Amino acid sequence: MLKGKSAVVTGSTSGIGHGIARAFAAQGANLMLNGFGDAAEIERLRAGLAAEFKVKVAFNGADMSKPEQIREMVAAATRELGAVDILVNNAGIQHTAPVEEFPEERWDAVIAINLSSNFHAIKAALPQMRQRNWGRIINIASVHGLVASTQKIAYIAAKHGVVGLTKVIALETAQTRITCNAICPGWVLTPLVQKQIDARAAKDGIAVERAKTDLLAEKQPSREFATPEQIGALAVFLCSEAAAQIRGAALPIDGAWSAQ
Ligand code: NAD
Repeated sequence: MLKGKSAVVTGSTSGIGHGIARAFAAQGANLMLNGFGDAAEIERLRAGLAAEFKVKVAFNGADMSKPEQIREMVAAATRELGAVDILVNNAGIQHTAPVEEFPEERWDAVIAINLSSNFHAIKAALPQMRQRNWGRIINIASVHGLVASTQKIAYIAAKHGVVGLTKVIALETAQTRITCNAICPGWVLTPLVQKQIDARAAKDGIAVERAKTDLLAEKQPSREFATPEQIGALAVFLCSEAAAQIRGAALPIDGAWSAQ
């Protein structure tokens, strides 16, 4: 379905971004991977996807907190893959603390990586999408773009910002064949969440497995994690013609978390 299209997926060396990149490659899209990690492991991942799905896979290590590097990544993807037809803004970090103890430096980093990077990447990629009059922009927000929890002030401010920014882009591209939507996952078992589970186990003096079920029970009525594969499948659907009139939406995939 995505044969001949090229996609940039930020933060695709792990977790949800990796799930989306795999789902796109399986549909025949060429890819620009991005993210941090061990160089040899990233190269294995890159070469593995290219070989398994017979698509072009490039990698760019741009730091999503650095606007200049984001612009260079979009330029590199255009050079190396021929175009950026699909942009997935997925890279993100978390920091948990009550507001009085929240370090200013963590606030700045979360806002830069989880929110401002979306602005910089979209600004860099949109002109060429307009030229071809086709594009898909998918921002990975969160259920925390729709509702709040304690101890996550920067993350929740950033994700609510992503949902707002998504609506603006949808309006500004409404009469084109470019769409912009946000996906709002609930708990997905990735390294970002595993860190929170481990912290909970340590704080409550309980086993990691118990901390995992407690975490789900507290927020996610289905009591099951959403998976990177499910989010990848939704991202693929948003790239289809069937989804051409889904615009400016914030789509939860959260086991009914936001239904409460
Ligand atoms: P993860 O930690 O597994 O992956 C994060 C990815 O972002 C990694 O590839 C990492 O290298 C990359 N990254 C981090 N900082 C970066 C930077 N400065 N520049 C470039 N890349 C950077 O996390 P995940 O759970 O897969 O999260 C992916 C996205 O999904 C995030 O935006 C997160 O907020 C969102 N999300 C996650 C969950 C969840 O439950 N896991 C729920 C809702 C939303």
